[in-house]
Amino acid sequence: MKTSEESRVEHAIEVAKKAHEGQFRKTGEPYIIHPLAVKKILEDWGMDEDTIIAGILHDTVEDTSLTLDDIRKDFGESVAFLVDGVTKLSTARTGMRDIDTYLPATRDNFLRLMIALGDDIRVLIIKLADRLHNIRTLSALPPDKQRKIAKETLEVFAPLADRLNMGQLRVELADLSFKYVDPKRFNELKNLITRHNKSAEKSLQKIKTEISAALKKEKINFEISGRVKSVYSLHKKLAKHNQNINEIYDLTALRIIVDDVTDCYLTLGIIHSLYTPMNGRIKDYIAMPKQNGYQSLHTTVITKDKHIVEFQIRTHAMHEYAERGLAASFYYNEQKLTENYKEGKIEHLPTNLLWITELQTTAARLREGKKVDLKKLKLNLFADKIFVYTPKGDIIDLPTGALPLDFAYRLHSEIGDHVVGVKINGKMSNLNKKLEQGDVVEILTSKNQKPNTSWLSRIITSHARHKLLHRLNRSSDNMIKQDKNPKK
Ligand code: MN
Repeated sequence: MKTSEESRVEHAIEVAKKAHEGQFRKTGEPYIIHPLAVKKILEDWGMDEDTIIAGILHDTVEDTSLTLDDIRKDFGESVAFLVDGVTKLSTARTGMRDIDTYLPATRDNFLRLMIALGDDIRVLIIKLADRLHNIRTLSALPPDKQRKIAKETLEVFAPLADRLNMGQLRVELADLSFKYVDPKRFNELKNLITRHNKSAEKSLQKIKTEISAALKKEKINFEISGRVKSVYSLHKKLAKHNQNINEIYDLTALRIIVDDVTDCYLTLGIIHSLYTPMNGRIKDYIAMPKQNGYQSLHTTVITKDKHIVEFQIRTHAMHEYAERGLAASFYYNEQKLTENYKEGKIEHLPTNLLWITELQTTAARLREGKKVDLKKLKLNLFADKIFVYTPKGDIIDLPTGALPLDFAYRLHSEIGDHVVGVKINGKMSNLNKKLEQGDVVEILTSKNQKPNTSWLSRIITSHARHKLLHRLNRSSDNMIKQDKNPKK
C-alpha cells in the first residue's frame, strides 16, 4: 500500500521493482533499469504524470504477475488504460510476421494498427520511449535480433516519430538503427558528412558573419546554428538521386531562429539580397505546413564563392515543435491544444493533430453514446476486432467471428464472388471456419465460380452481405433478361 508521503511516481517505482524482481536484461543488469530509463525519457519529453507512471509500469502486465486490476486500484483508470494499451500493442505486434517479409503496404498497415490501437496518443509515446531505450542498448543482443529490431525501428518507429513531428527522436532512432542494419554504409556516409563539414567550415563561418551583420542592422533578434544532417536521411536522399552527391543541396544547412513570423519573412528577404537563391528551392512551410505540422521557411542559395547552402528559418515555437513534436504540445498545453481547437479558441491546428483529434473524437463518441463504464468500453475497443493477414502480409481488420467470405469480400468483391476455398495459415480449411487473431488467410478463386444464397449464412459483416446481395440480385436480373430475350 501507498504511504501518504510517498509520491505516486515513487510508489510506481516500488511496485515495478518488486514485480520485476529477479528478472534481468540481456546486458546482465536488473530489469528495472529499463522501465526507469523509459521514465527518464518521458520526463525529458515533458510528459504528464500518468504517462510517466504508465512508462514505469509498461512491462509489468505482460511480463510479471502484476495485473491490470492491481494497477487500476493503485494508480487509477487512466494509468491502467495506458499500460493496457502498451500491452495490447505488443501483443498485436507479436501476431505479425518478421519485418524481413514486410512489404511497404504492411509497414503502413502497422502504423495504422498502432494508431488504431493507440486510441490515446500517449500509448504511442510510451511505446516510442520504450523503443528508444531498447535501441540505445541494442548491442547486448545477438546479431540476428539486433538486425531485426533495428530494421523494424527504421521502418516503423522512426516514421511514426516523424508523423508526430518528433524530429530529434526520428533522427536518433533512424541513425542508431541504420548503424545496425547497414554498418558499412553507415560508416561510409558518416565519414562523408564529417569530411564535408570540415571542408565547408571556413566558408560557413564567413556566411554566418555576413548574415549576422545584416540581421543586426535590421534589428532582428536571432539565433543561428548549423544543422547536422542525419546519416539515414542522406542515405535515403542519395538513393533518390542516383547516388549523385552533387544533387544533394542540403548537406550544408544553417538554421535561423527568430521571434515571430514577420521576422521569418524579413530574414528570408535579407538572405536573398545577399546570395542568389536557387530556382525552385524556396519552400514556405509556414503558410503551408507539412502534413505532420512542421513549419519553417526553406531556401537554398549559392554564395559568392560558389557554396550551396540551405537555410531553415523559423520561430522559437516552430523550432520547439519541429524538434519535440507532439510531446512538446503536451508539455506546453497538457493536451489542451486539441480541446482549444474544438472550442474554437485557436484557428489553426497543425495538420498532424487532425488525425489525432479524429481518433479521440471517435473514441469519445463511443464513450458518450453508450454510457457504459470506461473500463469495459476501452477494453472493447480492442476486443471486438481481430487482425488477420493476407499471404503478402497486408493487415485486414475484421470484427470478431468473421468468416473467410467476409475476408474475401473485404479484399475485393471480384475475389468474394469467385471463392472456391480457403487456406488458413497454409492449410486447407473451410468457409465456415471462424478466423482468429493473426491468421494468414489465402483465398482460392475460380473464374467459373458464382455466389449462391447459401453464402448468406457464411458471412457476418454487413459489408460482405451488401456486396453479396448486390451480386445475387444482379444475376437474377440477368436470368430474367435472358428469359425475355431468348437466344437469337
Ligand atoms: Mn519495455
